[in-house]
Amino acid sequence: MKKYNFNAGPSILPREVIEATAAACLEFNNSGLSLMEISHRAKDFQPVVDEAVALFKELLDIPQGYSVIFLGGGASLEFCMVPYNFLEKKAAYLNTGVWAKKAMKEAKLFGEVVEVASSAEATYTYIPKDFTVPADADYFHITTNNTIYGTEIRKELDSPVPLIADMSSDIFSRPVDVSKYNCIYGGAQKNLSMAGVTFVIVKDEALGKVSRQIPTMLDYRTHVEKGSMFNTPPVVPIYCALQNLKWIKAQGGVKEMDRRANERAKIVYDEIDRNKFFRGTANEEDRSVMNLCFVMKDEYKELEADFLKFATEKGMVGVKGHRSVGGFRASCYNAMTIEGVKALVACMKEFEANH
Ligand SMILES: *Cc1c(COP(=O)(O)O)cnc(C)c1O
Repeated sequence: MKKYNFNAGPSILPREVIEATAAACLEFNNSGLSLMEISHRAKDFQPVVDEAVALFKELLDIPQGYSVIFLGGGASLEFCMVPYNFLEKKAAYLNTGVWAKKAMKEAKLFGEVVEVASSAEATYTYIPKDFTVPADADYFHITTNNTIYGTEIRKELDSPVPLIADMSSDIFSRPVDVSKYNCIYGGAQKNLSMAGVTFVIVKDEALGKVSRQIPTMLDYRTHVEKGSMFNTPPVVPIYCALQNLKWIKAQGGVKEMDRRANERAKIVYDEIDRNKFFRGTANEEDRSVMNLCFVMKDEYKELEADFLKFATEKGMVGVKGHRSVGGFRASCYNAMTIEGVKALVACMKEFEANH
């Protein structure tokens, strides 16, 4: 049976990307060797990194003066690297979910952290709108897409200080005005590549402004200067990212990804709103087009396990909601097809008809 991958991360990738990466794992560039067994400093691997960086800049229209680096450690390590490199005295954070909170926790080790607003009291079902960012903050940190709660900030916020964003789960799903940010980072395993690589876009002139000493590996300057080659980078995930960046470009770039994301999300949200059993969990105007969260209405709560079983039998993979929210979550990253979301909707309709 055909499976539709709604996993939140690691998650769906285009079939071509998986096949190209798998082929390189068997033999890289007619070298007689696997991608897994060549040196990251090999003459024919350097172009992989160079091309990935070039495509990053092209697809996101990254202005001059920014570097793109590939690291290990996941978005979770960036929660500490960001304040290490950018927080001198005070930083502002918008608390929109578990990941935002984790980022704040690390920042507190380095200086004063101002939580400008939080939606924790409403289980993070909305994006706070009324807040003031202190003008003397070193940066304002946001999580553009809240993977667990299904809320999203899909347009650039106004801020009196440079933005820094965790874009783990919505990078390359829309155009971004990178010039508003000092740094954008994320784990690759949601919308860019397989797990194992972390991307960081950093404004060069914003580096080197803090007075503390930074351990070599945690200093962004190390990786900018060495072009992500200070130590051995995760070569297979970087290769996979390159294949995906090529795929995005061939499909029409981030504008097209944006269009598709909105089209998919509308199909599913329309059904959530229409179907008598379901209700969306996120505030309507803040709904994520990447992670679509919904639950059984209170009066049908006892049917939750039934729907999950039914959907799973129909080939829907990964639609169980995060344990902190419950219910269901359909993650629809770039590679999710219209056919996939229509199959999910058909499943919801059939379930309704059966009960
Ligand atoms: C998944 C996720 C993370 C954690 O990423 P790791 O690479 O596993 O550390 C952080 N932030 C957001 C928004 C995420 O979706």
